[in-house]
Amino acid sequence: MDYLPLFMAVKGRPVLVVGGSKAAARKAELASRAGAAVTVLAPEISDDMANLIAQRKLAHATHEVAREDLDGCALAFGASDDEALNERVHALAEACGVPVNIVDRPELCQFIMPAILDRDGVVVAVSSGGEAPLLTRMMKARFETLVPAAYGRLARFAGRWRGRVGKAIKDGDLRRRFWEDMFEGTVAELVFAGRVSEAEHAMQAQMEAAEKGAEGPPRGEVWLVGAGPGDPDLLTFRALRLMQQAEVVLYDRLIGEGIMNLVRRDAERIYVGKSPKNHTMAQEDISSLLVRLAKEGRRVLRLKGGDPFIFGRGGEEIEALAAEGIPFQVVPGVTAANGCAAYAGIPLTHRDHAQACVFVTGHGAGDEGPDWKALIHPGQTIVIYMGLSTLADLSAGYIANGGAPDMPAAIVENGTRPDQRVIAGTIADLPARKQAAKLGQPSLIIIGSVVSLHKDLAWFEAAEG
Ligand code: SAH
Repeated sequence: MDYLPLFMAVKGRPVLVVGGSKAAARKAELASRAGAAVTVLAPEISDDMANLIAQRKLAHATHEVAREDLDGCALAFGASDDEALNERVHALAEACGVPVNIVDRPELCQFIMPAILDRDGVVVAVSSGGEAPLLTRMMKARFETLVPAAYGRLARFAGRWRGRVGKAIKDGDLRRRFWEDMFEGTVAELVFAGRVSEAEHAMQAQMEAAEKGAEGPPRGEVWLVGAGPGDPDLLTFRALRLMQQAEVVLYDRLIGEGIMNLVRRDAERIYVGKSPKNHTMAQEDISSLLVRLAKEGRRVLRLKGGDPFIFGRGGEEIEALAAEGIPFQVVPGVTAANGCAAYAGIPLTHRDHAQACVFVTGHGAGDEGPDWKALIHPGQTIVIYMGLSTLADLSAGYIANGGAPDMPAAIVENGTRPDQRVIAGTIADLPARKQAAKLGQPSLIIIGSVVSLHKDLAWFEAAEG
């Protein structure tokens, strides 16, 4: 490590920025955001700098830099286009003992500026010691995906409690454990969900328990998370975060290995998969298992293929939780229709083809089949979930109800996965194509003239084998 990372208090302290360039404006802005009293010294200023000075009401002077300008400064930046001036700033700052940074001149820098991710007060600073600024910016982008957007809110919440917690829990180890639980637990999730007054109550209860050295009130909760159609890259940030916190995971057949690999290693895994013919666990049993596990105080992840609220029976599961007063969250996922369509190059709507799109199930509660009259409309794409086994009936029903036999239609098998297959034809010949290709589950059917675009717009190639 060539530099010592620090966060410096500059609130109310003078910081000098010499130069009016865009780069100078960046430095002036950062210093001003951290509360410094910034003076910009430059006869000529860029538009960026002019806007900044106006917006943040910075002091601006145009005289030639002198020792008095630097005396007493917390920091100084030299960001002029005039190298001789930059060197002079450096020399004066050194003479006054003021740490100085000359932009793009590492040999004249006593400190360097990191790439900064500021989540509302929670700050991640990344540096490569000046070697690879682009790399640090890319790392910063990685952090953006890891740090929930609401961390600033959580930090302020914690800040409001810090004094009280310090008084209540005297033992340092206990206090650290208390905060760890808090930042990863129910309270944090409540803050993220915007339910601040409930978070305050939970915090109070947990603090009182910790004060007595008792276990906190049970913090069981359930996260109903959509895992998308298969490609792990399609998970949401929130899904990934909760997958890495859960203690127990209930998952089903649609959840592939790639996604399960992202679940916390030591989490207990319970398979509750359903397949069309073989119901491993009845829906009521899954719901009561969720309730039981949460009541034991565990943090339960219910991982679902696609989106939990689209043919996922997620509604029934959270009804059971709501009835028992168990806290839950629902995280949406990319549903099969979106995932398969995108990866097959079939736009579900398109100005020239379709102005509407409906998602239906191939076998509903009864077995009379879809309401074709409501579905068959010019300019409407039909997406059928769970329709593979009854495809012959679906095809016949479509045509019998006035649908055009030559309407383009496709089956996407294992959509978004390395073994994705897309079979396209017409609604009339699709059953025969399905037989010939020996398609299996999971498969999605798409009917509509948008399917004709597939041959030109397909971009995703399944891996061999
Ligand atoms: N909640 C899920 C759907 C569950 S119903 C979602 O939002 O996607 C199960 C049906 O979804 C399957 O029968 C199939 O029609 C469809 N499906 C799910 N994943 C799929 C995939 N990767 N490829 C093709 N179809 C899929």
